[in-house]
Amino acid sequence: MNLTVKKANSLKQKPDESNLGFGTIFTDHMFNMDYDPEKGWHNQRIEPYGPMIMDPATMVLHYGQSIFEGLKAFIGESGEVRLFRPKDNFARLNRSARRMCIPEIDPATVIEALKELVRLDKSWVPSAPGTSLYIRPAIVATDPYVGVRASSTYRFFIILSPVGAYYKEGFNPVKIWISKDYVRAVIGGLGEAKTAANYAASLYASEEAHKNGYTQVLWLDGVERKYIEEVGSMNIFFVIGDELVTPALTGSILAGITRESVIKIASEKWGMKVSERKISIDEIMEADAKGILKESFGTGTAAVISPVGNIKYGDKIITINNGEVGPVAKKAFDTITGIQYGKLEDPFGWVEII
Ligand SMILES: *Cc1c(COP(=O)(O)O)cnc(C)c1O
Repeated sequence: MNLTVKKANSLKQKPDESNLGFGTIFTDHMFNMDYDPEKGWHNQRIEPYGPMIMDPATMVLHYGQSIFEGLKAFIGESGEVRLFRPKDNFARLNRSARRMCIPEIDPATVIEALKELVRLDKSWVPSAPGTSLYIRPAIVATDPYVGVRASSTYRFFIILSPVGAYYKEGFNPVKIWISKDYVRAVIGGLGEAKTAANYAASLYASEEAHKNGYTQVLWLDGVERKYIEEVGSMNIFFVIGDELVTPALTGSILAGITRESVIKIASEKWGMKVSERKISIDEIMEADAKGILKESFGTGTAAVISPVGNIKYGDKIITINNGEVGPVAKKAFDTITGIQYGKLEDPFGWVEII
């Protein structure tokens, strides 16, 4: 790869690490590359972070042909920078690309460029407990054209954002709301691609949940409105009896990397019974009534594990584990973050040290 590096003339002031939120502060540099049908992906460059100038007719602004990823870098015990499962994120980016008619990228080239970018902005990787550097790669359609078709040109970029501990006052269970009126995705639609449209589809129901005092929406399948899919930007797990269950990847659910990490750790390290299968909302309500619904939690890169304390479905509200963090959620959180920060061994080779 021919990577050019143009450094920023003046560097921004670093934020207070004890007070980082999520996704509002960006580092000094970014990575960019362009696609056109003749040259393929070209002009790989690291340059100062800054606005992108676009023609108002740029296709992504009108028809949403865009995909993205989210991964994190951590500072380890001896000051090393650690990337968690980057190959899996870029493999998924290519799966999203195929679904959205976007040309695939070469993961090895992009991971090399990402490492170079993180090395350059290394002083932005926060080291306070629970903090990390959130990495956002994205690809957007750039033809200036208001007719509908797949674009012929694209921009790939990576931006970096230092983020705080997701849980300010510890690890608090969230309240989730099941939408009866709206759906996010259907089999054959875009649910398994990490694309902007899935988020656009989720906003109205999320606002409804917020107005009613709930943090996130738990989506049911778009056809029968019966089977559990995922929560907001997280996959969902339940502990029923001594079994850990999560919805199977049927085509309308995003294949989360944290989801896969939890499945692997629980089945291979803890010897727990783990099932990926259809789970109806009725099964959850019955398990609660029988007293065998022990825990529920969401999984995703931002929060890692987010325990669920309450679920509201129509007039019914259930409270799980007395609204407290359960042992499986706690252990999953401690194990994954332990591997990420290098406090625990990395049995699956998930971490790449920069
Ligand atoms: C990104 C995302 C997730 C979580 O995936 P991770 O790889 O674990 O971060 C879950 N659901 C949706 C809709 C997502 O976009």
